[in-house]
Amino acid sequence: MVYNVDFDISAIAVSLLTIFYIFNKKGLHKRANLTFLAIVVSGLISAIADIFSSIVNANPNVNNFLVQDIWNYLYLMVHNLVPYLLVLYILQVIDKAGIMSGLQRMILLLPVLADYVLLAANPFKKWVFFYDYNGSYVHGRFFSFLYFGAIIYLLVSLFLLMYFHKQLPSRKMHPICFFILMSVTSVIIQMIFPHLLIELFFQSIGLLAILYSLENKDDIINPETHIFNRFSFTTEAEKALLENGNRLIIVKLPNIQYYNSTVGVIYMKSILRDIAKWLEQLDQNIPCFDIGSGHFALFLKDEKINSDHIVEQICFRFTKTWGRRRFRLRFPVQTCLVSIPKDVDNMEDLLYLTDLTFDGTRTCKLDASEAVNRFQRRTKIEQLIQNALQNNLFHVYYQPIWEKESGKIHSAEALIRLIDDEMGFISPEEFIPIAEENGSILEIGAFVFEEVCRFYQEHRLAELGIEYIEVNLSVVQCMNKSLANFFEDILSRYHLDANRINLEITESAATDSRNTLIETVKALTDKGFQFSLDDYGTGYSNFSYMYDLPFSIIKLDKSILWSALHPQTGKGEENAMVLLESNIRMMHRMHYKILAEGVETADQKILLENLGCDLFQGYFFAKPIPGDSFLDFVKVVNA
Ligand code: C2E
Ligand code: MG
Ligand code: MG
Repeated sequence: MVYNVDFDISAIAVSLLTIFYIFNKKGLHKRANLTFLAIVVSGLISAIADIFSSIVNANPNVNNFLVQDIWNYLYLMVHNLVPYLLVLYILQVIDKAGIMSGLQRMILLLPVLADYVLLAANPFKKWVFFYDYNGSYVHGRFFSFLYFGAIIYLLVSLFLLMYFHKQLPSRKMHPICFFILMSVTSVIIQMIFPHLLIELFFQSIGLLAILYSLENKDDIINPETHIFNRFSFTTEAEKALLENGNRLIIVKLPNIQYYNSTVGVIYMKSILRDIAKWLEQLDQNIPCFDIGSGHFALFLKDEKINSDHIVEQICFRFTKTWGRRRFRLRFPVQTCLVSIPKDVDNMEDLLYLTDLTFDGTRTCKLDASEAVNRFQRRTKIEQLIQNALQNNLFHVYYQPIWEKESGKIHSAEALIRLIDDEMGFISPEEFIPIAEENGSILEIGAFVFEEVCRFYQEHRLAELGIEYIEVNLSVVQCMNKSLANFFEDILSRYHLDANRINLEITESAATDSRNTLIETVKALTDKGFQFSLDDYGTGYSNFSYMYDLPFSIIKLDKSILWSALHPQTGKGEENAMVLLESNIRMMHRMHYKILAEGVETADQKILLENLGCDLFQGYFFAKPIPGDSFLDFVKVVNA
């Protein structure tokens, strides 16, 4: 028979390309990668041997039998190894090779060993092949037994793929299935057209598919820090979550954006590269991942590794500087040792732990379970907010505001309340920032505004001496340019004037979108709303804010009052008293009305009265109370 070796030559080209690619990329040095390389090299050797054996078999008289034997045996020995290597590769990819017992490994080797026994006996028994009287190559009685071994491995491969399909993402599953499909198709084609020698070419294309999608290092290595990237972290984390007893150290540089903007992105990249390199050299058995934004993760798979020692080393290294020449910087660092599944048992919690940095903490070691609890509480609160919005479970409480001049309750602040059967009272200090982040503050704000309008109108608060109600306005609400019209519609529905509502904007409101905020406030002022500056003195004092926005009332934060005269100790700082005094004087000269928050004692009230404060709000008068209690209270006090 005349063999067509064209496909084998193509197979050699494709295999060489694959090998070139493997060696040109940063290697992973994992067993699976080496096995993959072994499959490709076997394919290459088989193709070379196939070409030579075809030539020598086609020209039996030109060559002596020894040369003919060498190529034929080499081909069969190497080629029959591939199905076995494929099973091994799949086991390694799904991380099951390591847990196989010695006996299981032996059983797995049996078919390929049986092939080798046949080949070893062939010179005497001629079971696999022999040469006829013309010297031509002829298949022996048990040649098809070699196919039998390959079929067994194929079935095992298919079984593994199906059984562990949950552990294998489609990214891995598809190319391996494609490889098997290519191999089977080529064997069938070659059975029909034996002279075509197409098998190795199809196999090399299948391997190329695996290389492209599974072994492609570009997919898993961060090009900047040269360590594993976030994608390979999540793949590894998925596996770790399925197994027990994995540990992980997360290393975070908080505020990386700040450093990017101060020392420059390019310089920071080189520092991150140095950090990655240093983390990687800590222990060669600890793979190191760059998760992005200055966050890294180290997987401690080996139980013997002393995690505390690693954490100590990291914390110590970060007490020293990073960088070269001109810039030498010291970075704060946060580490978090996570035990899987003790601390986290799902991907969502794990990603929360890896991604979030905790501002304001200067400690190097963070407690994983505490961080997860924080996250779970937050998630629960998010659900509660949604539930409360859908089922009308939010309530508005009113805290009376007392006016010195009249000695009466002259207004009130509307404060939202969320009470859950299970979690109890949840402070707006906790849920409002969450609602601001996820946008539900818009609905909450609309609810509070409408509820206040309804309450004011329905109970004729004006007739009870309540001039207006203070409603807290989030800056997020102010980013909506049609807020003024929206509020106006609600007011008109309740036949209410805008001067019955005082909108409070907190001093700490973000100044990022200052222009939009100013525009919205102006539109609201044009409609007749008044504004109060909330929490004045909480440390964000920004006086230009006061020129730009038309406040009529300044609400002094309780911290100023309490520093000057503490409700519990009855004492205070001398300088705080000066600050309180001069602030009130200054605000009066600017023609603002002053409201003091957090008045809890008679002494505080007397002090503020002497300093000329106009309005008072605090537990000394009343706590925030439900609407009907508020009505009763006002009726008594204002009688
Ligand atoms: P805020 O606007 O400064 O409200 C005053 C806070 O001080 C209220 O806390 C009130 O209960 C508390 N307070 C009043 N008097 C005293 C006192 O004498 N002693 C002490 N220790 N505390 C006193 P609350 O109700 O927990 O609200 C916290 C913050 O949540 C509010 O601070 C406000 O910024 C925000 N918030 C409340 N309701 C809403 C709302 O409907 N919308 C928006 N956007 N924010 C709201
Ligand atoms: Mg307020
Ligand atoms: Mg306040």
